[in-house]
Amino acid sequence: MSEARSPHPRTVERVMRRLARAMTGLELPAVEKISEEQAKDPFRILISTLLSARTQDATTHAASTRLFRVARTPQSMARLPVRDLARLIYPVSFYRNKARHVKACCEMLVGRYGGRVPSTMEELVTLPGVGRKTANLVMILGFRSPDNICVDTHVHRISNRLGWVATRAPDETEQALYRATDRRWWPHINLYLVTWGQNVCRPVYPRCGDCVIRPECRRIGVERRNGT
Ligand code: SF4
Repeated sequence: MSEARSPHPRTVERVMRRLARAMTGLELPAVEKISEEQAKDPFRILISTLLSARTQDATTHAASTRLFRVARTPQSMARLPVRDLARLIYPVSFYRNKARHVKACCEMLVGRYGGRVPSTMEELVTLPGVGRKTANLVMILGFRSPDNICVDTHVHRISNRLGWVATRAPDETEQALYRATDRRWWPHINLYLVTWGQNVCRPVYPRCGDCVIRPECRRIGVERRNGT
């Protein structure tokens, strides 16, 4: 694995500003879209993020919309049988497991947290099926926290290609990014890199020839490129 060089703060700023401009008109990631549509409701952000793992954005959005039409609160969702939850969220990947997690999560919200989504990382990660990625996204989108970076597979991949981090797993990348980037960018990193990862810096055949941050990118580990 190559070594990461901590990026110069001006490099990070150039990358983030270029991405912000280039993203205009691109489709928002599913959870961001739900957050916008649902007035940044932490409960809906939590549930749609749970559904989104390893699932196409359009499928996550449609499944979340179907589910929220039937149950809008932790109380009403906790009352639904797992079988009904699974039917409503199908065809998200692992829908049976996710249905179990959604139900257990809602039961805990009702039983332990008074029917509200807790607003600390420590409490969020106690919820069934909730890891750091989901908890960080709820903190950023639902509670407007400036102190979190949400790292999913896109953020992990692109941060490594840029050469900002040299890590093997998303949790490691999260900690490395706190050290490598100025905190003013933390709440934006997920939206910018996920959007870029879905449209340009794809897992295979990244479109480096069309990429506005190519001059800043070390393209670590990129072997097969389109348009270069
Ligand atoms: S230059 Fe290529 S590898 Fe680097 S961010 Fe752009 S698409 Fe990804």
